[in-house]
Amino acid sequence: MCVFYINAVLFIIFHHICLAFITNLYILIIVSRLGAPLTQATNLLKQISATINPMSSNVYFMQCDLKECCFRFPLDLDQFEGKVCPLCGGKLSKEVPRLAQWQPDWIDTQLPEVYLVLDNIRSAHNLGSILRTAEGAGVSGLYLCGLTPSPDKNPAVAKTALGSEQRLTWQWQSNALRCCEHLKEKGFQIVCIEAAPQAKSIFSKTLQYKTSKIALVLGSEPAGVDPAIIELADEVVYIPMSGEKSSLNVSVACGIALYSVISAFQN
Ligand SMILES: [Zn+2]
Repeated sequence: MCVFYINAVLFIIFHHICLAFITNLYILIIVSRLGAPLTQATNLLKQISATINPMSSNVYFMQCDLKECCFRFPLDLDQFEGKVCPLCGGKLSKEVPRLAQWQPDWIDTQLPEVYLVLDNIRSAHNLGSILRTAEGAGVSGLYLCGLTPSPDKNPAVAKTALGSEQRLTWQWQSNALRCCEHLKEKGFQIVCIEAAPQAKSIFSKTLQYKTSKIALVLGSEPAGVDPAIIELADEVVYIPMSGEKSSLNVSVACGIALYSVISAFQN
């Protein structure tokens, strides 16, 4: 009786171990079956977007023929001729060529003389993005102050600046307040972008620029613009926000502010 009881217990334990082993094996097989194509597709998609040559005239929007998938994306056919759908492996159809590159120049526009003062903007990526935007908006120059990195000493800036740092006039200064005082002496109107109680909306009709010489001041996201600069500013301006966040990424705020200032000088 006792032997039978031990045998029964051993059998149940063995049975459980086998069951657990088989279940794990199944999970492993399912995960590896699903995982492999998904990883392959992600890698292929990364490769596809990275290899689109901006100068290539052979970039087409492609679409997967499989109705359930219908994946549509741009592909540089000089790099990826004859590829199948990266998501489902289905056949791809060539839909339309991308639009030809076009340079949207500032033609017949009166650009104000705008300088950017960056008050302790630490992120090299944000600085790079600001430089790229500043070049597009046609700023006269930039003052990179305090903790703001110097593009010639921080190679991470070039990643998002895409060469703008070499085409723009900029200089690093240790003190943003002194820089603003100098600009004010030279007749520049100091405009700070900051959410403060006395600030006006950037879209406000009462916001008027007295001169076409403007120094636009942006601060770092945690500390904001130096209160001593706000004190001497001619205008403090905020960008209206919906949702829970009270501020935008500094490079996005810079783009909005720059183009809004410029648009105020267009007829
Ligand atoms: Zn597909």
